[in-house]
Amino acid sequence: MYDIKALYEAESVSHAIRLLEEHPDAKIIAGGSDILIKIREGKLKDVELISIYGLDELRGVMLEEDGALRIGSLTSFSHVTKHPLIQRHIRVLGEAVDKVGGPQIRNIGTIGGNTCNGVTSADSASTLFAYDALVELAGPDGVRTVPIHEFYLKAGCVDLRQGEIETAVLIPKASYDGYAGHYIKYAMRNAMDIATLGCSVNVKLSEDKKQLVDVRIAFGVAGPVPLRCPAAERAAKGKKAIDETYRRFAQEVRQDIHPRDSWRASRAFREHISQVLARRAIEEAVDRAGGEAL
Ligand SMILES: Cc1cc2nc3c(=O)[nH]c(=O)nc-3n(C[C@H](O)[C@H](O)[C@H](O)COP(=O)(O)OP(=O)(O)OC[C@H]3O[C@@H](n4cnc5c(N)ncnc54)[C@H](O)[C@@H]3O)c2cc1C
Repeated sequence: MYDIKALYEAESVSHAIRLLEEHPDAKIIAGGSDILIKIREGKLKDVELISIYGLDELRGVMLEEDGALRIGSLTSFSHVTKHPLIQRHIRVLGEAVDKVGGPQIRNIGTIGGNTCNGVTSADSASTLFAYDALVELAGPDGVRTVPIHEFYLKAGCVDLRQGEIETAVLIPKASYDGYAGHYIKYAMRNAMDIATLGCSVNVKLSEDKKQLVDVRIAFGVAGPVPLRCPAAERAAKGKKAIDETYRRFAQEVRQDIHPRDSWRASRAFREHISQVLARRAIEEAVDRAGGEAL
């Protein structure tokens, strides 16, 4: 049973904002793959919905003048994965969202919905954290841009103010140019499962491919919101791309994560696999960046 009081269809971004002002309790619906389930489960009752699904202006991937990659918030996971700009510049993001649910969910679910639901297990989130993505929001006071780590406030809660919608996710050129990354989703089964832990690493190598000029790592499900691991990044940045560096990098991850026990896995198990995933992900990222084991 879907207890929906009213459905309003936005005809433009400004119309969506106006509708949100006129109906302050209404919820945005994009692909509906999260919110419809909440309604069916009775977690939302007598709800007013504002659909933005028809706003094609919020769909697609493009390069901004300054080289930033702009991913419209209504872009589906399938489109993110297949898009040539994603494949060329940030293939790992396409691979990460290709691990979401099954084909139907990847065709209907959007990157905007995946970030606005504020869930730590969202498959796009750790890669977006690891690439210092920005979230673009439009509201009654205009447009603002927020670093993704500030956008996630607490479990299930993001910095969306009254009347705002997310219009895009942006990845600055300096964040992706020359980097290669790898995402590992550890789940209890290979299909249609939420991550027990998600780990995304990207690296930039020196010209001779022997040194890690930069390293970034982020986890999902290692805390109430996705998070970066500064201690691990410090341990590897500027170091040689060798086994000893990867070992220390993986060890340091424990400093910054704080997973919890859940029915999916214990805290101890998550702590253990965080190191295994970190090590595997950095090795693969180095390989993709053209490095070799020394
Ligand atoms: C069977 C199944 C399997 C799944 N598996 C996975 C998985 O493996 N990994 C994973 O990460 N997710 C998974 N999901 C969750 C879901 O598909 C994603 O979170 C999806 O990205 C949500 O996008 P949507 O467009 O459907 O969002 P909706 O359901 O339309 O919206 C989700 C939330 O975000 C808000 N919202 C959406 N877009 C905007 C916007 N532009 N501005 C402001 N607020 C907005 C809505 O108000 C709502 O609160 C699964 C879901 C199902 C049903």
